Amino acid sequence: QKKLGLVIDLDTCVGCQACAVNCKEWNASGHSGPLPDLKPYSAGAEGVWFNRVHSYEAGEGAQGRTVHFPRSCLHCETPDCVTVCPTGASYKRIEDGIVLVDHDICIGCGLCAWACPYGAREMDEDAGVMKKCTLCIDRIYNENIPEAQRQPACVLTCPTSARHFGDLGDPESKVSKLVAERGGQPLMPELGYKPVNSYLPPRNRTSLAAKPDEAAP
Ligand code: SF4
Ligand code: SF4
Ligand code: SF4
Repeated sequence: QKKLGLVIDLDTCVGCQACAVNCKEWNASGHSGPLPDLKPYSAGAEGVWFNRVHSYEAGEGAQGRTVHFPRSCLHCETPDCVTVCPTGASYKRIEDGIVLVDHDICIGCGLCAWACPYGAREMDEDAGVMKKCTLCIDRIYNENIPEAQRQPACVLTCPTSARHFGDLGDPESKVSKLVAERGGQPLMPELGYKPVNSYLPPRNRTSLAAKPDEAAP
């Protein structure tokens, strides 16, 4: 079964925010793509960000470092954001696993935001509807743009190639192999939402200061 999602490398993310900005730039312009069943999923209003990057300090002493953590919808396999929605506006696509909101029938009640433990939902106060990452569905299937660019906007713009997009349901895909090689992990699996997106952990750093005997003569 196809499970489109992101693999985010916490080792190489430098917290530059380019992914967040490019996400907003693409989505705020309200592209609807060429597919007749697609509606605009615009990020629209100011303050609505589908992708946010948080930075914090981790570890102590020589092993201390700043960790950058990009956060967006994880396109969970069993998402309560969908089951709690009273109107059916929130749904998960069978064909590729992308979780979307139909803005025509969303009543802006906010239940889905309460049900999402990852804080991935964004209320558009101006439009009165809930919004979220769509994996740039209007890019990845868009035949009007070159094939190499049919990727989520955040993936295309990342200067360190910390973001990868693909089918995590296919064990032979590049993203699945990357997760297997690097020990990629879903976020808070104990909650049972089965996130499709995966995070690659930061590698251990060896500090010269911590090992003076190994320093160059
Ligand atoms: Fe739903 Fe949140 Fe999972 Fe996205 S991350 S599918 S909004 S529960
Ligand atoms: Fe459904 Fe919209 Fe309410 Fe979320 S805010 S639960 S998508 S009707
Ligand atoms: Fe991290 Fe890449 Fe986003 Fe910059 S663009 S914050 S490096 S994931």
